[in-house]
Amino acid sequence: MCGITGVFAPGRDAARLAYFALYALQHRGQESAGIAAADGGTIRSHKAMGLLSAIFDEDILSDLSGHIAVGHTRYSTTGSSIVVNAQPLLERTELGDFAFAHNGNLTNTDDLRATLSPTTVLQATSDSEVMAKLIVESKGTMLDRIAAVLKVARGAYSIVLCTQDELYAFRDPWGVRPLCIGTLPDGGYIVASESCAFGPVGAQYLREVERGEILRITGKGLESHRTSVESAIPALCMFEYIYFSRPDSKLDERSIYMARYAMGRQLAKEHPIEADVVMAVPDSAVAGGIGYAAESGLPYVEGLIKNRYIGRTFISPDQKMRSRDVHLKFNPVVENLRGQRVVVVDDSIVRGTTTPRIVALLREAGAREVHLRITSPPIKHPCYLGVDMATYDELIAANYTVEEIRAKTGADSLGYLSLAGLMTAIGREREEMCVGCLTGEYPNVPATHQTRVLAKAEI
Ligand code: 5GP
Ligand code: MG
Repeated sequence: MCGITGVFAPGRDAARLAYFALYALQHRGQESAGIAAADGGTIRSHKAMGLLSAIFDEDILSDLSGHIAVGHTRYSTTGSSIVVNAQPLLERTELGDFAFAHNGNLTNTDDLRATLSPTTVLQATSDSEVMAKLIVESKGTMLDRIAAVLKVARGAYSIVLCTQDELYAFRDPWGVRPLCIGTLPDGGYIVASESCAFGPVGAQYLREVERGEILRITGKGLESHRTSVESAIPALCMFEYIYFSRPDSKLDERSIYMARYAMGRQLAKEHPIEADVVMAVPDSAVAGGIGYAAESGLPYVEGLIKNRYIGRTFISPDQKMRSRDVHLKFNPVVENLRGQRVVVVDDSIVRGTTTPRIVALLREAGAREVHLRITSPPIKHPCYLGVDMATYDELIAANYTVEEIRAKTGADSLGYLSLAGLMTAIGREREEMCVGCLTGEYPNVPATHQTRVLAKAEI
């Protein structure tokens, strides 16, 4: 995962707008962040490890002058978490410089790397750099080069790219990772991974960037260039709906909040239970919890309060504290739990490390019964397209039955949303989404790549 944004704002400081957009996308990656800005001539950039608020200040942003910018927040899935892998990447061609920011994972990086000139030196370890080098080594205009890369690159890639005087945005032919475009209030455009980035800069949502589409934004306005997507099946990532996207974003005009609310209602239909209260694990499951409560007629309560400042801690707790690490993140609201039969709605169980701790915490706080309800089906297969779940070993539902998982979590009952129920709630067809982590059928990932990734990960 990652968050990306591109800004074309004549007469304004694009880097500042990109900063506020990235701030709204911080949930998509907390490892590193960067912004590159172009003023028609020079491209300047700044990137570092850590959270946006720690990386940028007034002085740094003022140095990034210019009306065009691209920005990135990184969540590493391929390539190590080190600063050379931070983005935007800066590259040089005969046409001039460009800056490049990528969300997604390629699935044919090794094959693509093999087509690069033997004299090309790769500094980073990421698939993103291979893609940027392909653009460097292609021929023709920037548009020609991007179109050439779209023909050969497989996997997931939503990309923003700025040259010295133009902004480009494009999406892979499968449309795995989201990307949308909005209009800025004083003219110009903003592209972002999610529409929640538009509010802070006063932008209006225009539409999704289509799969296989290349947008080119210049002083003359917006152009759309469609490349062939005939051989590609639509494969928007289902996990964007379950967990990744912010609830205040929309995808194809569908509100993530309302999709999660509908998942909660559907879950209550599929797995009703006699109980006193419904709560959600904050923040990602809240809309689902409210939906479950509405459908079941039970009151919705806050059973856990999340520390808003915890994010990803860079200081790891010592061994004694580690067993209590769920307490660093959550405190129970004892008054809502004591003596109650509690339905706990969460969005997913991935590795199964968090959930047993939450169940234990609720019992310590006095809950009489704990009924776990999950707004996704069991996650049984790895993701090769950008979500951080790489191996069968680490996925609890790949190795245990629902009843075994219930026992491991310590809950009194456990119910997962069905795949059909999930699709009904989202309002989409299964054939237009990637549900590989649920079914093991990936519309977009060559079998050779799957075995290669697993072989590497299991060493
Ligand atoms: P686990 O079962 O892996 O211990 O944790 C599941 C919890 O992690 C769920 O509450 C879910 O909201 C959250 N979660 C799901 N996917 C991700 C992810 O990709 N990254 C992070 N940081 N949390 C996730
Ligand atoms: Mg969660």
